[in-house]
Amino acid sequence: MSILVVGSVALDSVETPFGKRERVLGGSATYFATSASFFTDVNLVAVVGEDFPQEHVDFLRSRDIDLTGLSRVPGETFHWKGYYGYDLNEAQTLETHLNVFQHFKPRIPPQYADAEYLILANIDPELQLEVLKQVKRPKLVACDTMNFWISSKPEALKEVISRVDIFIINESEARQLSGEVNLVRAARAILAMGVKNLVVKRGEYGVLMFNGSSLFAAPAYPLEEVFDPTGAGDTFAGGFMGYLANIGDTSEEAIRQAIIFGSVMASFNVEAFSLDRLRTLTYPDIEARYRDFKRMTHFEEVGGL
Ligand code: AMP
Repeated sequence: MSILVVGSVALDSVETPFGKRERVLGGSATYFATSASFFTDVNLVAVVGEDFPQEHVDFLRSRDIDLTGLSRVPGETFHWKGYYGYDLNEAQTLETHLNVFQHFKPRIPPQYADAEYLILANIDPELQLEVLKQVKRPKLVACDTMNFWISSKPEALKEVISRVDIFIINESEARQLSGEVNLVRAARAILAMGVKNLVVKRGEYGVLMFNGSSLFAAPAYPLEEVFDPTGAGDTFAGGFMGYLANIGDTSEEAIRQAIIFGSVMASFNVEAFSLDRLRTLTYPDIEARYRDFKRMTHFEEVGGL
């Protein structure tokens, strides 16, 4: 089954301890769509400006991403500038220029209105609400956000998260949104906002999933070289939702397995700047790392309890 993604398509300027890139391809919807495209068909809704290089459009097309919903309008593309210190777990936002997103009203093409899998990637929560109004009855809706929107539009964001099945958020953002320092308490407070499943991304420490009745913990794949964490969260979400849409199953067991596929995709993405690693990635690479992941987390009981 196909996925509908709405989010940012951006030009990013990023600095990490290992290098610097100016105005490279980025954006929450870009990372999400590219990652999900390894598993299923993806339909993308976003806006770019006149400065958005055609080669990036060609790249997205080369991944078979349907771009009917990508509009190009007068003005500049969304631009994010970020910095990572040696703690690669958290980006410092230096600049956010909404540019063409400032006046963007997402219009979901009629052929996407029946989407069964919908991801509201990181973007203005008011736009996320607009999208929810235009789709009929998706089987699964997930959403992501970031500190920028938690600070600037908390009410709209709370409205969005009360209406989705899966809410994906960073550890520090879970603390910020809930006002709780302890992560388990933070998760409980967010579940009380009406969230059914909460996925908390913890960078190099992996992912925790909470719902009303259970907890699932996955480590991150241990890597020797991490160049650029930008997009790890969106790439995770792309692998996660892409896998769920591929198997057409939304059971808790499927969600747990999807968390591993999401983690595998994020582990590749951080190995190079921008989307460069995803450009050369193949499905057999994904399968091999998935098997490694399974071996890495498996244990047998050899003694009694
Ligand atoms: P992450 O997966 O959290 O590392 O997401 C990184 C991507 O989010 C970058 O490529 C940015 O272009 C994009 N981004 C940063 N700030 C925002 C924002 N306020 N709204 C939407 N997208 C953003």
